[in-house]
Amino acid sequence: MDSTAMRAWARIDLAALRANVEALRARAPGAGLMAVVKSDAYGHGMVPCARAAIEAGATWLGTATPQEALELRAAGVGARALCWLWTPGGPWREAIEADIDVSVSGMWALREVVAAARAAGRHARVHLKADTGLGRNGAQPADWPELVAAARAAEAEGALQVTGLWSHFACADEPGHPSIAAQLASYREALAHAERAGLRPEVRHMANSPATLTLPESHFDLVRTGVAMYGISPVPQLGAPADFGLRPVMTLGARIALVKAVPGGHGISYGHKYTTPGATTLALVPVGYADGIPRHASGTGPVLVAGKWRTVAGRVAMDQFVVDLGGDSAEVGDEALLFGPGDRGEPTAEDWALAADTISYEIITRIGTRVPRVYVGK
Ligand SMILES: *Cc1c(COP(=O)(O)O)cnc(C)c1O
Repeated sequence: MDSTAMRAWARIDLAALRANVEALRARAPGAGLMAVVKSDAYGHGMVPCARAAIEAGATWLGTATPQEALELRAAGVGARALCWLWTPGGPWREAIEADIDVSVSGMWALREVVAAARAAGRHARVHLKADTGLGRNGAQPADWPELVAAARAAEAEGALQVTGLWSHFACADEPGHPSIAAQLASYREALAHAERAGLRPEVRHMANSPATLTLPESHFDLVRTGVAMYGISPVPQLGAPADFGLRPVMTLGARIALVKAVPGGHGISYGHKYTTPGATTLALVPVGYADGIPRHASGTGPVLVAGKWRTVAGRVAMDQFVVDLGGDSAEVGDEALLFGPGDRGEPTAEDWALAADTISYEIITRIGTRVPRVYVGK
């Protein structure tokens, strides 16, 4: 697809994604790699990214919802896949029949998965999740023995196989945070208990991107990498993507829709939060918060236009925002680069995260469906 006639585009560099997967595998040489492709592969497009990750040696795929995992199967992606965010009603049976591994954090879910396996006439593959300190999903240490015993009993009866035991970090992006060692210790206890109860999982896994890069003792059998695979530094205080051997996969661009001269003292965009300091030229960038450009970056978001970084002038609107070219000229149809790897001088997703007081995960993930994805490096 050619982007020259597009209002805006997200260029997705699959060669960079494959190289990132290889760099991450080299960081965790004793473990397999689960490519986390939830939320449309963090906005990059789930199926093409899943395929590229597998080509580069990913051994598992991870999604949040069962619907996402079923979408992978519908597209013909057959790799091992785990999905972990369940609510009552499933779809457990569809997942079992599609050979999707399912996560169970509590007795309600275990009961539903066992019933679905009996109805399907085949066993479910289950990863039991321990809450080792995140306080989100997963079974509390006090509830773990009951969940393990019930899972072991269902396994003995043939309704399921416990294929994984897992947990998730709260503060892996803050190396040295005391919760990290505490969570590892709690996880080891959960594993030891499960082994004593007779469970023999295929994979034990805990590490997300920051732990994959900074905490080898958390790698166990499998690392679950999301943001780093998309070339974003999960620990920006420790280094930019390149410092970890990663390259941003998404470049977000738009085509300038209007350039015009205006006098000094001219209010710009809704609420007139910006007023031109003198006679100047303005360029109209045709993307807005409906495309995922944070309104919080009004007055602060950086854009490369006509060779220089400009700043969003006034408010980001639903479909567009304005930059003040300060008297420089630009042509209608010129590229405006919002973020990318940075090698053409453009800002990065991390620059937008700083401008909007958020994290780069949110910047890439929220780019909307109205922005076409253009795949290169296939
Ligand atoms: C999203 C997610 C990941 C991936 O996290 P990154 O920091 O993007 O690598 C891993 N595990 C779970 C449970 C997740 O929800």
